[in-house]
Amino acid sequence: MANKRATANPEMPFAVELSPRGVARLQGGHVWVYRSDVSAAKDLPAGALVGVTDGRGKFLGTALYSSSSQIAVRMISREPVADLPVLVAERIRAAIAYRKRVVANSNAYRVVFSEADLLPGLIVDHYNDVLSVQILTQAMDAEPLRSAVLKNLVDELRPAGIVERVDPRIRELEQLPQEKSGLCWGEKSSTIITMNSGGSADAASPPGVRFHYDGLEGQKTGAFLDQRENYAAAAQYAHGEALDVFCYHGGFALHLAGKCSSVTGVDSSRPALEMAEKNAALNGRELEWIEGNAFDLLKDYASAKGQYDTIVLDPPAFAKSKQDLEKAMRGYKELNLRALKMLRPGGVLVTCSCSFHVNSQAFIEMVAEAARDAHRVARILEIRYQAKDHPILLNVPETSYLKCLIFTVN
Ligand code: SAH
Repeated sequence: MANKRATANPEMPFAVELSPRGVARLQGGHVWVYRSDVSAAKDLPAGALVGVTDGRGKFLGTALYSSSSQIAVRMISREPVADLPVLVAERIRAAIAYRKRVVANSNAYRVVFSEADLLPGLIVDHYNDVLSVQILTQAMDAEPLRSAVLKNLVDELRPAGIVERVDPRIRELEQLPQEKSGLCWGEKSSTIITMNSGGSADAASPPGVRFHYDGLEGQKTGAFLDQRENYAAAAQYAHGEALDVFCYHGGFALHLAGKCSSVTGVDSSRPALEMAEKNAALNGRELEWIEGNAFDLLKDYASAKGQYDTIVLDPPAFAKSKQDLEKAMRGYKELNLRALKMLRPGGVLVTCSCSFHVNSQAFIEMVAEAARDAHRVARILEIRYQAKDHPILLNVPETSYLKCLIFTVN
């Protein structure tokens, strides 16, 4: 159908024009346009709300502009937007409503996931009665939007505290003044969360698994909520002696504990293991924690065959950029090869990658090669992604980053 929208838009004081390649990106369903495809006035303010047009002045939608990031334009609507805080409030309500549909049996989940919730530059995690907020763009950081976001979160979710998590690298890229992470509303910054409590068919165990959450410590936003559904799936197949490699606070390990005769968690970070131990106590479990380099440890273990029945591999992102890809694949393969060699017949491998640059197919092929080299027959039990509260937009590939494959081996 022909687009009959007016070309000039009186409601939008600022405008940017896209190159034909930029226009094609939007037509392909993407929401980012890179600086090389954007022409903007030199004095366009950082974080401005802009009308986006093609080279002939046809209106294509509304975006948030960044004066410093390579991603100069992040679309927020295909329509003109007169009142950004009102639109953002609607989007926050929609994000909350979506979680009501897809999250069950957990009081910890991601409420807002940036582009995937049409709220570019905003991430909000819900940890029982504490919210964690990350602001990643000039537009979201600017008043009055910042205050409007906090007010909406308070009104809709009634938390006891909101913690702002600052990523200094992102603030530098966006040329925003440096700030410290800390409490930005209310009084509470730490709490206890419960996930995968009974009720659903694939629940790990009826009472669920509890974790300490401290908004002012730890990595990322405190817990790896994107693995929540994968914890429950892994627990479904787990048995015997289990090894959780890159265990952090014990997310997989504690979910496996209800199904396995013993669980050992491995991580190179002592503070992470101290928290894992506290989480074990919280759940009345006794697990073994080993501090060490996973590569060295698996090398030592792999020489002795058949040590475990269940192995989880959940390393940090090895491929932070496209350039790292080859080295990253070697790292993944080494880990998977060693783990496959160490599994008893009938054993289960849960293997993950959170590198966006390693796509699902490449990851599956890598495990296939590792299985061949290890002389094991591997059967796929499940091919999984991030939990549904971290939505994946089909036309924005960057929203899909986590892979979690579950195999059984002969
Ligand atoms: N499985 C965890 C998340 C893992 S994040 C969960 O579900 O919560 C990756 C972890 O790998 C971090 O805790 C980090 O400390 C650890 N790590 C990074 N490099 C490592 C290495 N070479 N050996 C062991 N652990 C490592």
